[in-house]
Amino acid sequence: MATTPSNKMLPKPHLPPNLPSLVATAFSRSVATKTVNFYPTSVTLLTINSIPFQLRYSPSLASKPKPPSVTTPKLFFNPFASPTQEMLITPFGTSPPSHNLVLNKFAVVPEHFILSTSAFKPQTHLLEADDLAAAYACIDAYARHNKELFVFFNSGDHSGASQPHRHLQLLPVENMKEGLEGGWDVLAKGLTDPNTRGKLPFEVFARDIKGLGGDGEELRRVYLELYNQACEAVLGVAEDIKHEGEAQISYNLAMTNNTMAVVPRLTEGGVVKDKDGQEVGNLALNGTVLAGTALVRSEMEWNALREDPDQVNQVLGRIGVPNRAKM
Ligand code: AMP
Repeated sequence: MATTPSNKMLPKPHLPPNLPSLVATAFSRSVATKTVNFYPTSVTLLTINSIPFQLRYSPSLASKPKPPSVTTPKLFFNPFASPTQEMLITPFGTSPPSHNLVLNKFAVVPEHFILSTSAFKPQTHLLEADDLAAAYACIDAYARHNKELFVFFNSGDHSGASQPHRHLQLLPVENMKEGLEGGWDVLAKGLTDPNTRGKLPFEVFARDIKGLGGDGEELRRVYLELYNQACEAVLGVAEDIKHEGEAQISYNLAMTNNTMAVVPRLTEGGVVKDKDGQEVGNLALNGTVLAGTALVRSEMEWNALREDPDQVNQVLGRIGVPNRAKM
């Protein structure tokens, strides 16, 4: 159960120095050729326990095709198995390349891109040092251009995950702010502050990673510490927590330049009701909840949540382990 520091230093994955413009160019080109679908949104800022939380509404997202289930192998298509030239931004990592950066085919935030393993690895297995080093290398490549990236990972049935091939997702923070006139920033950045964590209705575990220099083994050590805490919160025991293979819980991970956070998940979301108490939809949340964002596809949900933001708070209270600081 204890995590032992490792002396192994992984070679740092090399990325093209102009990564932000490479992503922007690939995104514009693929939207123009309709290889990538970009779904415009309306946005509003809610205040949840004094935390600024953005709610987006994308009516056209309702037409996004549902991925066939993994249990119907004939229909199942793995988008990360061998990405087309149009979707591929760049392969990278130690030789042969361990990872690919690919565009997200269904983008709500402009330039949403994905870090997937070159060879198939399960999404539900614990992340490896090279996955974390690769994700942090992307954050670093953006930071060199004074840009921020928000990285998230969904793993397990209740996490909002849909694709079984291992992938982390990356969002340029300035694009996440589109349509807002200030007043919002990535929630995860403040989660090392116990006061901020205490305001959330769910338990979340976070650590400062700024001083780790993006080293994969160091990042994994922190990840496993946070994962242990998340497992303990769900399973109630600290023994028998394995650090290889299949994860024992559903969870989301978030990473920014300075913070890593893990939230254990018990449900994907919860119902939304209108002011007459009629069910109008279901608010589903994935790792972007750790940025302080949520997305709806129906106008009825959009109206109901703006009229009664406390419903967002209630759903947040159901997605994970109730926060002891608030009990
Ligand atoms: P998740 O639902 O967390 O497993 O993330 C899967 C991601 O893959 C989502 O952001 C999807 O929009 C994205 N996606 C789904 N199909 C494709 C595809 N054919 N090419 C690229 N990205 C895709």
